[in-house]
Amino acid sequence: MRRKISIFGATGSIGQNTVDLVQRQGGAENYNIIALSGAANVALLAQQAIALQADIAITALPEKLPELQALLQNTGIESAAGADAIAESAAREIDWAMSAIVGAAGLNASLGIARQGATLALANKESIVCAGELLLRECSKNNATLLPVDSEHSAIFQALQGAKPETLERIILTASGGPFKDHSLAGMHSVTPAQAAAHPKWKMGKRISIDSATMFNKALEVIEAKHLFSCKPDQIEVIIHPQSIIHSMVGFSDGAMLAHLGSPDMRGPIGYALNFPNRNPLPLARLDFAKLARLDFAAPDITRFPALRLAYRVLETGGLSGAVFNAAKEAAMDAFLAGKTGFLDMAMLVEKALDDPYLNEQIAGDVFSLNAITDIDLAARQFVNALITNG
Ligand code: NAD
Ligand code: MG
Repeated sequence: MRRKISIFGATGSIGQNTVDLVQRQGGAENYNIIALSGAANVALLAQQAIALQADIAITALPEKLPELQALLQNTGIESAAGADAIAESAAREIDWAMSAIVGAAGLNASLGIARQGATLALANKESIVCAGELLLRECSKNNATLLPVDSEHSAIFQALQGAKPETLERIILTASGGPFKDHSLAGMHSVTPAQAAAHPKWKMGKRISIDSATMFNKALEVIEAKHLFSCKPDQIEVIIHPQSIIHSMVGFSDGAMLAHLGSPDMRGPIGYALNFPNRNPLPLARLDFAKLARLDFAAPDITRFPALRLAYRVLETGGLSGAVFNAAKEAAMDAFLAGKTGFLDMAMLVEKALDDPYLNEQIAGDVFSLNAITDIDLAARQFVNALITNG
């Protein structure tokens, strides 16, 4: 029987890699593709929907619907638009789905997949950072399988196969260090969005690339790791590893460490999630250790990359602080992209949001309430926007 699958954020970097693997594994002959979603690039979305014979294609942008409808005329493929339509399509019966929308905007798709007890391939780390308790409860209540797609968490998940949970001592998340790994703090003041988006090792969407430059991406991953692997803050470490060959490591109670190595290509973790529990052949470059010759490591510098320090603060505070952290970071990045704030100001703005007395009252709210999460998300964005407007 063909597996029913959906891909949310199909037109993005993760989405396109997922479509690529699905096509390599037989496309519509082997899979029954239910829903594909995108946003502005409806030409690509329509092309993917036609190639995979999807039931429905949804754009996040209502103003793009007429164009999508025109592109899908006479194909028999339904089209729809808007956040609600994406959430509704996530409730259509599936066996497996990729959650690869960028930002907290991906939360409803992740929840929809979890609520129908499907396999949730989770690239959208923001879902688990802002709503970890809720998302994991929905997964366990509905017998959904959550498979991390973030390369580090996929690496850890793979290293933990067959291990007893109580034997997990520490996890070490590797970080490339981003484009400003060796820049001085003074040199980072004037960084532009284009410079920040140019990642040295990974080809990714613009926002996650900028998150890698500030190390907010690693900060999100520290919080993601806490939820996924039930770790205490002192069990999660970050190490700079510029070659991005070791994707992360797990230390066990006997002192042994397992590392996951591979070429930096997201089709590795996406393919693992697509084929789990099997390992199918994947089109990844194979490692040549003689050519690599060396792997380097260095401690991260939290003075230049304060996002990491803030992540540990979120781990200690708990409650809804992950939602504040993520939303404030998204709003700060919107301002950075619009030229309204500087590169280093992004972490400062997030720290101010975490310090704010009103937001701190809300942080104690119900972590299982989607309303509480969306309310505090909005409040944190408004707080950051007001700070920027008022200088
Ligand atoms: P991307 O910007 O390339 O793609 C984002 C996708 O989301 C696109 O399909 C876009 O149309 C859609 N989208 C954008 N805004 C939307 C909105 N408001 N509502 C609905 N859909 C919207 O991003 P990406 O690099 O593919 O990253 C996707 C997710 O995967 C992010 O959460 C990112 O952190 C995570 N991730 C990405 C990588 C990577 O290598 N790219 C690695 C690990 C994790
Ligand atoms: Mg990652």
